[in-house]
Amino acid sequence: MEYIIAVFFISIIGFILGSFYNVVGLRIPAGQSIVHPRSACPTCKHHLTAIELIPVFSYIFQGGKCRKCKTRISPIYASVELVTAILFTISPLLVGWSKELIVAWTLISLLMIVFVSDITYMIIPDKVLLFFAPIFIIERIFIPLDPWWDMLLGSVVGFLLLYFIAVVSKGGMGGGDIKLYAVIGLVLGWKLTLLSFFFSTIIGTMIGLVGMALGRVKKGKPMPFGPSIVIGTLIAYFFGNDFIAWYIDFIVL
Ligand SMILES: [Zn+2]
Repeated sequence: MEYIIAVFFISIIGFILGSFYNVVGLRIPAGQSIVHPRSACPTCKHHLTAIELIPVFSYIFQGGKCRKCKTRISPIYASVELVTAILFTISPLLVGWSKELIVAWTLISLLMIVFVSDITYMIIPDKVLLFFAPIFIIERIFIPLDPWWDMLLGSVVGFLLLYFIAVVSKGGMGGGDIKLYAVIGLVLGWKLTLLSFFFSTIIGTMIGLVGMALGRVKKGKPMPFGPSIVIGTLIAYFFGNDFIAWYIDFIVL
């Protein structure tokens, strides 16, 4: 029973934070305050009332449209709210009811903001990375990787790998992606950071191919890599060690 109550509260917190991360991801790159003014419809400027601000549910009950002017609202924002709630809720099942849960929730928070900013503006804001980097350093001092200095190695490996690829691909990787990987490395350590990049590249390629098949992505036109990094990093963080163990078994047999 306590478990069900805990899961219920965690999911509610996930929905509310997911909604907040949309606001942060949309406003920080635009240089706006994250508390003022109240959220409004970008088309008719109608200020959203409490009933229109309920995560996911408002979107569904309004049929994905503004209540006033009926302009379609992008499904991205309700999806971010839903995914944040789901990830927050399943985290205890994946990392256990341990201190690591704090790191998991912080990582999900960073990645959701990055997702919104990158998919909207093709920007991963420095301000967001500079906010999260010290938090991760403190968390990794009290909730360390094994060995503890893996956070430093992970950060250096993440930064150098992306920097190297940016140089070789002549701008195929943005500065934001490079700095993001320096932060991801702090959380994941060097092995899972490499694995995260491996997964991200596969996911990015798949999204690119599907996008081209659907005519949504043009060859040679830049595509945000952030969303792929977000998905690849979540997979590496939650399942990377299992994946490595499975892979080693596979090789040895
Ligand atoms: Zn409107």
